[in-house]
Amino acid sequence: MGYTLLAARYNRAVKFRVLGSFGGDSPACRMTSFLIDGTVAVDAGAITRALPIVDQGRIRHVLITHSHIDHTATLPFLIENTFGFDHEAMSIYSTRRILAVVRRHVFNNDTWPDFSRIPNRVYPRLRFVAVEAEHPFVIPGLPGGELEVTAIPVNHIVPTVGLLLRQGGASVLFTSDTGPTERVWAVANATDDLRAVITECSFPNRLQSIADASLHLSPQTLAGELAKLRRPTRILIYHFKPPHIDELRAELAATELPWPIEELEQGREYEF
Ligand SMILES: [Zn+2]
Ligand SMILES: [Zn+2]
Repeated sequence: MGYTLLAARYNRAVKFRVLGSFGGDSPACRMTSFLIDGTVAVDAGAITRALPIVDQGRIRHVLITHSHIDHTATLPFLIENTFGFDHEAMSIYSTRRILAVVRRHVFNNDTWPDFSRIPNRVYPRLRFVAVEAEHPFVIPGLPGGELEVTAIPVNHIVPTVGLLLRQGGASVLFTSDTGPTERVWAVANATDDLRAVITECSFPNRLQSIADASLHLSPQTLAGELAKLRRPTRILIYHFKPPHIDELRAELAATELPWPIEELEQGREYEF
């Protein structure tokens, strides 16, 4: 009995639900957003499209990897839909630079109201929490125990961080959108409890120049990135651009990669 309880506490998997797994929008493809333990969202491309409002109301924390709209589009509607669910502000976490862009371009009272001042500055509906890259911080109060989060800068066309997410002795590394990069792979190699890496592939090889210009990966540059990984772990690929899904699947199947990969399945809840 005691052992079972201990095992449940310390060997728990991270419950990771894929609300949207794509780098663009179509009826079948929702934009990037994940949900950990029902209460912490990672990016906000399609939260309000994937979850009933009552489940949106359980979200207390949103981690934002960068300002691009396929990662932030439904943040305004999430805030509006959950207004009045409780008296606690929803916390939006990212680096100071990334939050500044979100505030300037989304919650600017032109595109959408500044909910960090509504209903008032003392008890606002949302608060922006600036975090330092490479400094782990803890989000308490998840059903499965506290979540430790570390933001790691990656190499995208706007300031962007990947996230190392650790809960109950298991870690998941989400690179977010990135072209070829180094630091996030060094962190993966140094993480002993790493259970999964989620990284991107956006464009087929024939559009390599677009992938390079926008700092995304194609199957051939993904192969080079995965060669930087030195430990075996589960590798899941996300962020296909919707017009190229079939081509990307075929190319990835035909590409010789250093490690086996899976496509991150939209709608699925993983236990890593
Ligand atoms: Zn994206
Ligand atoms: Zn992006």
